[in-house]
Amino acid sequence: MAIIIDGKKVSKEIKDEVREKVLALKEDGVELALAVVIVGNDNASHVYVRNKKRACEYTGIRSIEYDLAEDTKEEELLSLIDKLNEDKDINGILVQMPLPKSIDPDKVINRIDPNKDVDGFHPINKGKMLEGSECFLPCTPSGIIELLKRYNIEIEGKRCVVLGRSDIVGKPMSILLLSENGTVTTCHSRTKDLSSITKEADIIVSAIGKAKFLTSDMVKDGSVVIDVGMNRDENNNLCGDCVYDDLFEKCSAITPVPGGVGPMTIAMLMKNVLHSYENQKGK
Ligand code: NAP
Repeated sequence: MAIIIDGKKVSKEIKDEVREKVLALKEDGVELALAVVIVGNDNASHVYVRNKKRACEYTGIRSIEYDLAEDTKEEELLSLIDKLNEDKDINGILVQMPLPKSIDPDKVINRIDPNKDVDGFHPINKGKMLEGSECFLPCTPSGIIELLKRYNIEIEGKRCVVLGRSDIVGKPMSILLLSENGTVTTCHSRTKDLSSITKEADIIVSAIGKAKFLTSDMVKDGSVVIDVGMNRDENNNLCGDCVYDDLFEKCSAITPVPGGVGPMTIAMLMKNVLHSYENQKGK
């Protein structure tokens, strides 16, 4: 039977740590601010933004929302980013993805000042992450590393298998596990005989986005399974990539969905906003 890795609990611990520092800064007359830019009417994006605003309220960070219309021109968005880059009172800039099709997301990400790129998506931050130097790390994979560390799950020397190679989860996850001295294999839709690879894994991170994909016959006894997937099952309930009940019996530790990786992403975002201020002040 597995230990349940409680992302909700750990994310609260992290938010409390951030909150304590943010409130101390407030007493010194400093207010941290995160600019949150959302373009268009994507329902899921509005839910994500609402959750981020809630976390800002909890931690004492001011969130300033820019809710732009679906037909916003790329140039308008870029000039808003220029303005936010220049604004000394803004510590972090987050542009909620996906953007409407008429806007090139790469152009937008590249325009954000890397020193305010609290999502860790700017190529400069990605390059620094590859080098292993100090930078903003993308929130979902860095949240997973934090979860493993806080549960004393050793990565060094372990066989780590990452399912998925997206720019926001799979690829950075593989790099961060490698930085922690894991022996990493990255799998994707063209991977052959996936089961033979997952069966050798000590740690599996699944970021595929397919309900009930990872089953107990694909993992070895005592493995650690981190489920990043956020899917809907046949009853429209939120579920991950894993057949949780089945894996629970075989694994040594597992993250539930909801309540596992999801809350960590937002907690790490709050941590990045605080880091941004500390970096700007050279602390
Ligand atoms: P994505 O961009 O769609 O990437 C999915 C990856 O899975 C791709 O690399 C794809 O391979 C791979 N894949 C698809 N089918 C596969 C198969 N049968 N076998 C092996 N690999 C396969 O998705 P994403 O943005 O990384 O997100 C993945 C999941 O995590 C989604 O459910 C998303 O909602 C969730 N998510 C959760 C959080 C959170 O905070 N909890 C944050 C971000 C994402 P190819 O590259 O070959 O196409």
